[in-house]
Amino acid sequence: MTARTIGQASIAKVEELCAAGFKPNRMFPRFNQEAFDAHKHWMVPEHVEAGSDRLVGSLHTWIVRTPRHTILIDTCLGNHKTRSAPAWNNLDTPFLERLRAAGVPPESVDMVMCTHLHVDHVGWNTKLENGRWVPTFPNARYLFARKEYAHWEDERRHKTGEEVNGGSFDDSVLPVVEARQAVFVDIDHQPDSLLTIRDAPGHTPGSITIHLADGGQEAVFSGDIMHHPIQVYYPEWSSQFCWDQDMSARSRRQVLEHCAEHRSLLCPAHFPGANAGYIHRERDAFRIEWDRR
Ligand SMILES: [Zn+2]
Repeated sequence: MTARTIGQASIAKVEELCAAGFKPNRMFPRFNQEAFDAHKHWMVPEHVEAGSDRLVGSLHTWIVRTPRHTILIDTCLGNHKTRSAPAWNNLDTPFLERLRAAGVPPESVDMVMCTHLHVDHVGWNTKLENGRWVPTFPNARYLFARKEYAHWEDERRHKTGEEVNGGSFDDSVLPVVEARQAVFVDIDHQPDSLLTIRDAPGHTPGSITIHLADGGQEAVFSGDIMHHPIQVYYPEWSSQFCWDQDMSARSRRQVLEHCAEHRSLLCPAHFPGANAGYIHRERDAFRIEWDRR
């Protein structure tokens, strides 16, 4: 894969896992079989498992390098963490070796950004060291959207650690705050002259999109505003994991409209294969043109 560039910045990706997961009728409460079947010809096998129809999903971290900073966007599941889902429990993947192979040793990371604080976006924020969870990236500032953090902090007041995002608030977010490496940011914050943060609520109350712009080009890191490319074609299909189905659908449509209008590269958190693409309007929805660099 050749490096993707946006002006003076580059974008790369490190994968933690890629596997078939939920069936679409379970993933999308507004699922319609006929509508899904109309797109199977291009989705199987890269995006939909042959035979089972299970949706293929990737867990990856985006690496953004600007002239000033090395930034990680979303940090997957992490190693050695106790999770209720068997496929996510007590992982031992060579994620950090892959990150090093991509030219990013942990100490070189300047910023970690999470599009939201679900369990599969915060995992590598911390690692286990002498029985304690400590920040994996010792020199990084970890940027959390203030509204998103406040929501989960409030949940944690009323629930046990395991009940809040599968235990990840306690083992992957709070240790970063305790180590004083967390920075709480508001919408429209610019952590780098090439990066801006936008509000995109619905999947979670404080979900954000991260926009990288330079030289007339733009990439949009959209987190879980979409989980699967079928949602480009049916933006009203919010996932069962969305906090507010209608609000999530509105944010999804806004992000897709923005990308279509500005010719932005859409970089979601879970699309397998090419991982990213350009969005075009098609009738009352959209289509994706994969960026196979
Ligand atoms: Zn996710």
